[in-house]
Amino acid sequence: TEEPLKALEITDVRVTFDGFTAVDGVSLRVGPGDLRFLIGPNGAGKTTLVDAVTGLVPATGSVRFGGHELLGRPVHRVARLGIGRTFQTATVFENLTVLQNLDIAVGAGRRPLTLLRRRRGIPEEVERALETIGLADHRERPAGTLAHGQKQWLEIGMLLVQNVQLLLLDEPVAGMSHEEREATGQLLRRVGEDRTVVVIEHDMDFMRTFASSVTVLHAGRVLSEGTVAEVRADPRVQEVYLGE
Ligand code: ADP
Repeated sequence: TEEPLKALEITDVRVTFDGFTAVDGVSLRVGPGDLRFLIGPNGAGKTTLVDAVTGLVPATGSVRFGGHELLGRPVHRVARLGIGRTFQTATVFENLTVLQNLDIAVGAGRRPLTLLRRRRGIPEEVERALETIGLADHRERPAGTLAHGQKQWLEIGMLLVQNVQLLLLDEPVAGMSHEEREATGQLLRRVGEDRTVVVIEHDMDFMRTFASSVTVLHAGRVLSEGTVAEVRADPRVQEVYLGE
């Protein structure tokens, strides 16, 4: 992406479900091109915060990306600002090939794919994404035959071809083998080179090799923030994790 890197600025965000406050005044800033881990025990409000950023649930406060206010925009208008997210369960089209999945993603909001294909072969962004996600040699495989990890990578690829500038990933290494985790770590580093990235993660071990900062949520609030080593050493963080 040739776009300038943009910051994500979350200010005093609150999400309430029937009187229950799931996100309780969260403020955090992810600098342009930074990769931030968002951790915390189950029920801390991590997914709900990402839901608020992407327009899936209504929230109060402010969420700005590249200066644009996101709160109050419907999901598709948030997406149009170059914001993409994945869910814990990868949603790819199992009966279509890797290439077809990426084609559909690149075609979303543009001219129909088949047309594009006939005109100028595989779009450049698809070729780039195939390399980035490490599936270049698997392009003709039906997505349903991919390993669990590869499906997750394909889903990330489907966001990359849409030229996302802010990527929000919900537990991308959940259920992955050791090798898949290592590969995903490399993938996140590549993806984070020219994008702002937020990763919800549960596994402190996975984050160990990243220099990125970590925000710890607990009961809808920011409990701690710092490097992986710092939050790990924070007695308050240890306490909520021991309680799991
Ligand atoms: P995390 O992702 O950190 O595990 P969640 O954001 O999924 O936490 O959930 C935070 C809290 O909000 C939990 O107590 C959860 O039960 C509650 N919650 C999430 N979504 C809803 C919903 N749609 N309706 C009611 N409560 C919800």
